[in-house]
Amino acid sequence: MKMDSTKSIVLVAHDNKKKELIEWVKKNEKAFQKHSFYATGTTGRLVNQETALSVQLLQSGPLGGDQQLGALISENKIDILIFFWDPLEAQPHDPDVKALIRLAAVWNIPVACNLSTADFILSSPHFAGEYNRKVEDYSTHNNRKV
Ligand code: PGA
Repeated sequence: MKMDSTKSIVLVAHDNKKKELIEWVKKNEKAFQKHSFYATGTTGRLVNQETALSVQLLQSGPLGGDQQLGALISENKIDILIFFWDPLEAQPHDPDVKALIRLAAVWNIPVACNLSTADFILSSPHFAGEYNRKVEDYSTHNNRKV
């Protein structure tokens, strides 16, 4: 699957990680200007308030936003998932988070779960350029006899 130089990027952060994500986005705002963004409700509202980026808001994560993102990934509408999750606190929507990360693996989407991985993704030549994302051939699965 071809990823254009203009990426569709998801931004999500659990509550204890929101400050870190917003600071990261602000610091790199210039590099983000040509890209488009989706976010879960609260994270996206903060990014919209604190930056000049225009983020398309989904439901808040615990209310279904993570599942909406998973659906967008399966529809090939997402190129990069930046999800700063909190490793020290159980979340009511842990199953949704797991499902989202799982779908990112199914469709071979680059995922950053922490600041340093986000920096690595941002500094990759593929970030501002094109990239051929290899996706497994799922026709055997789709055509299986049941
Ligand atoms: P929020 O959701 O941006 O609405 O807080 C994030 C999450 O916990 O998935």
